[in-house]
Amino acid sequence: MTQTQNIKHKINQQNLIGLFKELSRISGVSGREHRVAGFIRSFFDKASMKIKEDDARIKTGGNQGNLWLIPNSTDLSKPVTAFVAHMDTVRDTSQSVFDINDEKIFSSVPAQLGADNRWGLSMLLNILDICLNDDENPPNIIGICTVAEEAGMLGAKSLDFSICRPEKAIIFDSALRPGSYIKNCAGMSLFECHFSGKAAHSAVDPKSGISAILMAAKVLTEMEMFPVTNGIISNIGSISGGSATNLIPDSCTINGEIRGFNQDDIRNLAQQFSEIASTKAAERGGKVRFSVEVDFEPYSLEKWPELISFTESILERAGLKPNGAVYSGGSDANVLNIAGIPAVNLGVGAQNPHSDNEFVLIEDVRSCLNMISAFYDELKEMESANSAVLMPEQSEKSGQ
Ligand SMILES: [Zn+2]
Repeated sequence: MTQTQNIKHKINQQNLIGLFKELSRISGVSGREHRVAGFIRSFFDKASMKIKEDDARIKTGGNQGNLWLIPNSTDLSKPVTAFVAHMDTVRDTSQSVFDINDEKIFSSVPAQLGADNRWGLSMLLNILDICLNDDENPPNIIGICTVAEEAGMLGAKSLDFSICRPEKAIIFDSALRPGSYIKNCAGMSLFECHFSGKAAHSAVDPKSGISAILMAAKVLTEMEMFPVTNGIISNIGSISGGSATNLIPDSCTINGEIRGFNQDDIRNLAQQFSEIASTKAAERGGKVRFSVEVDFEPYSLEKWPELISFTESILERAGLKPNGAVYSGGSDANVLNIAGIPAVNLGVGAQNPHSDNEFVLIEDVRSCLNMISAFYDELKEMESANSAVLMPEQSEKSGQ
């Protein structure tokens, strides 16, 4: 690394950490991202950039739509690379106290720091800022700041691609360390079983009652024992039913999820669960209503080999060892990949997400800065190489 690059990175490190400090303490839980969007608008105030808000606010019922940050230098008729981060946090981060030592950035009081995903958002704003200050052929990039990612990627599911349909998307939203990126990601479906029995006094007339809670208990035991393979994970997250100890309960509802790396596997297990529930309910003289919905589908980047090689070359250029990881948590990358836009979610080192102990290592801050530079420089070089290839053809056509 040259001395100039060292100086450049040092300056950027201060800027990036300063930006993160400001962003991290803005209150903006899922569906309430308006203040975060306000900060972004003022950050780019007077910049040569168009900021568009799509109608995700209406579709999701929140107070903010997704923000599309489009530098004036970006030509939307040409292939565009989108950088993506989400504006929402799971918990209100406004009570966190930003602190930093030689090792890491953290909150000095028990609260979510906001590293997920304000750290990724800081990286996104930083790369666009570099673009806006580049007078020499900046790369064809945009930023997309989504809403309600933590509430089931509702913002990404409402993205308005009539504004721009990116050729590929780079997402700064994995808790993994820099160098890792998510290559194979699980999908998740949610299911609900609503059991109906028959109410009766538990002591006066117990024989005429049918307990929906006991029905659910039988079904849960069977579901737990059901053999699963191929990395499938299921969980029952909630159960509710009954109202008094002297009443045989006539209703009980269980809610659960199934995660897996193949949508057919998820669908098959849901079907098996549905059959178990019907059989066990019928055996006890009751009924069940089973419903399942896809929350997000799995993806594998093997479908986009060019994105894998692009990502790995960026990581190597940033001095990192590429690691294509298998991951069970969803992100906006699931939605974009299923929508046909090759999307990679990169490890940015926002560790222990959502907890009181969220932090970012200073070592990872440096790696993230190197990633930003690597993305920027690589895209710029690739695009100028492509236009150089086009030049002779264009010259022929114009008869020069
Ligand atoms: Zn996140």
